[in-house]
Amino acid sequence: MRAQLVRASALIVGAAVVAWPLGYFAAAWAGWALFSVGLVAQLLFQLRNFSRLERWSRDPVLDASLEGEGDWDNVFGRLYRHEKEMRGVIARRDAEIRMLISAAQALTDGVVLLDRHDNILFCNHTAEDQLGLRVAVDRGQAVVNLVRQPEFAAYLEGEDFSKPLTLRSERIKDLVLSIYVVPYAENNRLMQVKDVTQSERLDRMRRDFVANVSHELRTPLTVLGGFIETLQEIALDRDEQAHYLQLMGEQSKRMLTIVQDLLTLSSIEASPPPTYETVDMVTLLDKLRRDAEALSGGRHRVFLDSDGCGDLRGAEVELASAFGNLLSNAVRYTPSGGSIRICWRADAAGAEFAVEDSGIGIEPAHIPRLTERFYRVDRGRSRDVGGTGLGLAIVKHALSRHQARLDIRSEPGQGSRFAAVFPPSRVIGV
Ligand code: ADP
Repeated sequence: MRAQLVRASALIVGAAVVAWPLGYFAAAWAGWALFSVGLVAQLLFQLRNFSRLERWSRDPVLDASLEGEGDWDNVFGRLYRHEKEMRGVIARRDAEIRMLISAAQALTDGVVLLDRHDNILFCNHTAEDQLGLRVAVDRGQAVVNLVRQPEFAAYLEGEDFSKPLTLRSERIKDLVLSIYVVPYAENNRLMQVKDVTQSERLDRMRRDFVANVSHELRTPLTVLGGFIETLQEIALDRDEQAHYLQLMGEQSKRMLTIVQDLLTLSSIEASPPPTYETVDMVTLLDKLRRDAEALSGGRHRVFLDSDGCGDLRGAEVELASAFGNLLSNAVRYTPSGGSIRICWRADAAGAEFAVEDSGIGIEPAHIPRLTERFYRVDRGRSRDVGGTGLGLAIVKHALSRHQARLDIRSEPGQGSRFAAVFPPSRVIGV
């Protein structure tokens, strides 16, 4: 700045030095005129560079057009370099922000950033789906106006975020969310939204399971207790005693069957994934047919429909248990005189083990629920035929461990077809 002042003063002094002799020796006005011309030229020079700077500052472009004259060139040079640096800094910040946003978008949990008044600053795609938000239109809106469940508003208002809020979605059926709120940047809040539908479902299943097991065991135990009391308190003759003891035997057998089925289920669940040992289907099918005939005791006609082709790879015990359950159901739910057909087909596309019966059949509404533990179409009937409600749960579990699925077709009064469908990876010898 000092150099510029010295230079500007030198120019004025130079103009005066040239103009003074002219004014002194020729005419005063000529001297003043020459001095003024010098000053005006100086002013025009500065104005021209200033207007160039002013024009550029309105739309600063990064090209070589930013050139000044004299000292102005240095000023322009410094401005150019500063502008370039600033643009670099901004570009780097932009890239960082974009990266943070894409990291937030990649999160499987929902994230919502709120300002001090609980207005939305940002939310990721997961939170948009979970809470029905659209950040493009909802930014700046109060979150409680968009998530309108009263318990959510009360939770935010309560300011006690030591425990998460469990929210059952009103928009999406069965969706359960767990909402955590963490304060950040002074009074702002970060909302983390976890989808806990699955763990809630498992929790409920566990509770239902314990309740079901207790209920299933309580009934025979109560009956057994009643018989014991009767035997203790009433003097019965030998025939009556024998009758009571037989009924007690039935109840204890029933409890044993339930416990055995529970143990089978838990051992299938606990054991490692089935290996690829070969299961000889000709031998297994023959054994299954004989077992079914024994169980039927001649009340049904049992057929085996197989070309003997192909074997399975997997855990023989589990597969035999699954197939055996399907057959015992067919025997138990087919009235005397009916027929039961065991079908086996295997080719390069996979294999199918099916049990067809001409029994009582099942209403369509029940079919999707048959493999649930303790689910029975007719509880009394199942109990009468010695059912526990666990057979098809065991079947489903054993099959899914072999990447197989259970296909159920049935018509009430006509009969049923339960088929285990295996993928090619589980079939050999075709
Ligand atoms: P359960 O021990 O009661 O037989 P399952 O899990 O094996 O239990 O079967 C569940 C229910 O599915 C049975 O209670 C019965 O109502 C129905 N079901 C199973 N197999 C058949 C079948 N072959 N024909 C008709 N109903 C069947």
